[in-house]
Amino acid sequence: MSYFAGKRVMVFGGSRGIGAAIVAAFGQAGAKVVFTYSGSKEAALSLASKTGTTAVHADAADRSAAVAAVRSAGTMDIFVYNAGVIVSGDPLTIDADEVDRLIDINVRSPYHTAVEAVRSMPDGGRVLFIGSIHGDCMPFEGITAYGLSKSALQSMARGFARDFGHREITVNVVQPGPTDTDMNPASGPLAEKMHAQMAIKKHGTSEDVAQLTLYLAGPYASGITGAMHTIDGGFGA
Ligand code: NDP
Repeated sequence: MSYFAGKRVMVFGGSRGIGAAIVAAFGQAGAKVVFTYSGSKEAALSLASKTGTTAVHADAADRSAAVAAVRSAGTMDIFVYNAGVIVSGDPLTIDADEVDRLIDINVRSPYHTAVEAVRSMPDGGRVLFIGSIHGDCMPFEGITAYGLSKSALQSMARGFARDFGHREITVNVVQPGPTDTDMNPASGPLAEKMHAQMAIKKHGTSEDVAQLTLYLAGPYASGITGAMHTIDGGFGA
């Protein structure tokens, strides 16, 4: 029987892309999965029915609603925060409200929802943040807000690893590089520029990122905590 059979998993932001692949992988491994969606109700309901998982609505930009969704989902063995947005452009002209919204979704929400999940998490539980290689490096202009939000996840994981280590709860960051999703299509206008920075010159897949996430939530990863796990085709090498 799979290690994950019957494990309770919440994926915050699971309707599309990398999050949907994580939902599907845990579902296939026999876990009891609850995931959230915000704008993509149709995709979420379709994913839930295909994978035997449960979709609930929660906007990460609304702290009370996000925390309430985690509380309502009940005790979780594994909590994955995947939701994320990107805002790019010249900092002198970029919409300040868009930057604040990014910080709400990419920084404030993972902090508050992870804390809520850990309140009832059993000893030995797992917290995973989906960060980005841009938490480590910014080879292009125009992504300061996004990059700083992903660097914030690194401190969050290091700090929570210390805060919750006495309960043997591990806290880690998975850091993808270019991955073929709606956010960053392999055929998008920036693909060539990104591939030029990579050792393996192609986008990765959501499924690969999902399998790394499962490894970190699995039985051989109980001693891995407060650490960053990059899967970027050598983008940051
Ligand atoms: P997508 O744009 O394909 O999907 C984003 C996901 O985040 C969706 O499920 C979306 O849900 C959810 N989300 C967005 N805004 C909110 C919100 N306000 N409240 C709740 N959920 C929200 O992106 P990816 O799958 O590519 O990205 C997933 C994660 O991986 C992000 O954190 C991203 O930063 C990170 N990443 C992606 C890379 C890439 O190249 N694709 C590279 C490095 C990191 P809904 O549609 O229902 O609103």
